[in-house]
Parts: sequence; C-alpha cells; structure tokens
Amino acid sequence: MANIVIQVTTATIKNMESFYEKNKTDKTPPGAIFAAKKNGCTITAYRSGKVMFQGTRNEEEAKQWGQSLNQLTKPVQTKTSGAPLPANISSMSAIGSDEVGKGDYFGPMTVVAAYVKNDQMLLLKELGVKDSKNLTDSQIIKIAKDLLTFLPYSLLTLSNEKYNKLQSSGMTQGKITALLHNQALNHLLKKIDPEKPEAILIDQFAEAPIYFRHLQGQKEILRENVYFSTKAESIHLSVAAASILARYAFLKAFDELSKKAGFSLTKGAGAKVDQDAARLIKAKGISALNQFTKLHFANTNKAKKIAGITKA
Ligand code: MN
Repeated sequence: MANIVIQVTTATIKNMESFYEKNKTDKTPPGAIFAAKKNGCTITAYRSGKVMFQGTRNEEEAKQWGQSLNQLTKPVQTKTSGAPLPANISSMSAIGSDEVGKGDYFGPMTVVAAYVKNDQMLLLKELGVKDSKNLTDSQIIKIAKDLLTFLPYSLLTLSNEKYNKLQSSGMTQGKITALLHNQALNHLLKKIDPEKPEAILIDQFAEAPIYFRHLQGQKEILRENVYFSTKAESIHLSVAAASILARYAFLKAFDELSKKAGFSLTKGAGAKVDQDAARLIKAKGISALNQFTKLHFANTNKAKKIAGITKA
C-alpha cells in the first residue's frame, strides 16, 4: 500500500494533534511535530505542514484532512505517435505548436508556434507559463503580454470566413489544422534562422501518419525533428507558451466579434451558443453567420430552428 502525503496548514496540524491525542506514539521522528497510530495506520505530521499516512486504511484516514499530493501531482498521461520523443526533449531548445478555437462555434481558429531555448525555461516558469487549461483568461492575457515582448513566435489566425471557405471546399478540420501548424512552424523557422531548434513538438491533434497525409501536395512539409505528443504542453514549455499565445489571440478576436455582434458571444458549442446565433440571425440575417461562426457545426441548424427559419 502506498504512503499518502497531504499538505495542511499549521492550524490543521494543531487540530490533528488534539484529534489523535490518545493515539500518539512516544517516538517522534526528526522534523516531525507528532506521530500517532490509529487502527493500523501511522500518522506523522511534519513541521513543513506535510502529513504522512502509512499502513492499513490510510486513504480513509487521510481524506478527512486533505487531498493526497500524489493525486495532485500525478504524472500526466501522454501519447506519442511518429518518432519516439528524445529522452531529454523537455530540456531541449525547441519549437512547440498548438491551436485554439476548434471546438468553438463562434470565433476563428488560431495556431501558434513558439521557440523556447533551454536557458529561457526558468524565466518562463517564473512568468507563470504552464498548461493554459489550468490558467484563467486574465492570467493568460497577462502572461501572453510578457511573452510577446521577447519570445520568437508565429501566429496564424484563420477568420471564420476563410475557415468556412476551406471547409465547404471539402477540407476537414483536421486537414485545416495540419496546414496551419505546418505553416506556422515554417514561418517561425525562417524567423529564427540561422538558429535551429533541437526539436519541434506538435501538440498532437492527429496521429503522425494522418498529419503528414493531410500535408500531401504542400510545398514545404516540415519533417525533420518533428515530434507529436498529446498533452505536449506538459512535455515542453514551448507548447505551453504556444497554447497561451494562441488562446490570447483567440480571446482578442472573440472580443472583436462580440463587439461586431453587439452583445457578448458565448464560447464553446453548447445550448447558449445556439441562442446567441439565433439572436444574430434575427438581428443581421442568416448570411451574417459566415463571418461569426464555423457554419458546419450542428449549432447552425439549431439556431435556425430557434430563429424560426426552419421548422422544428
Ligand atoms: Mn492542443
């Protein structure tokens, strides 16, 4: 059975100490405030605020005081396709790329490639760069503004009109995404030339063979040192930075669209989005959707029904 460690406040340790008063053991290990044994579970509280639970039913005992640090910091499960990742990829000077907006009915798709050198990693961590899914919009805006002042990057914003044109010409969203990543990566390589990254890591939206199939027929297909992984923002800070910059660009574009619409549009593709789209149809006509939305989403038909254009 694995030991469980939780982090608590001094006040909680005081509470715990009186709670386990009768179960206290004589021996207190170095650095510990108290140790206790209850129903086969040994509880050791340390001055650092860490409390360890060992032995039978330790989960039960621990969970009344706090969440296991193991659970909080459990390693992210990633999946790699194509070439296996170099063992030390996290510390390499690398370009990472990521996209935002694929699942949002309103707003563009944004793709960013960003270059992070090994000696910039501490600074990026200091600025708060991490998985953008764990950051609020206002944190993302603040970090992005810092990054934009020094980090080499390439941003592509695919407007709704252009997206709809490509999509209606027969391109899948996967193909559109692949073309944008490849283009952003090429732009950035030219920007940092003659410097060369040690690796290029794409946040995997399609398995490597599919990605390259999407790129067939393109002039500049980047293959050298290109790696793919899911949750790649947890593997290299360049992907985390790219996702922050892509999200920032998306948020700005989204605000602009809301201004054009005359009201605050909703992110995602849920029921509120259908309502917003119906409101747009009533105010500006059905043809206006082309500049605000990804037309092929199911939201379009739902909005038409709500707006009374088609029968329910
Ligand atoms: Mn991604």
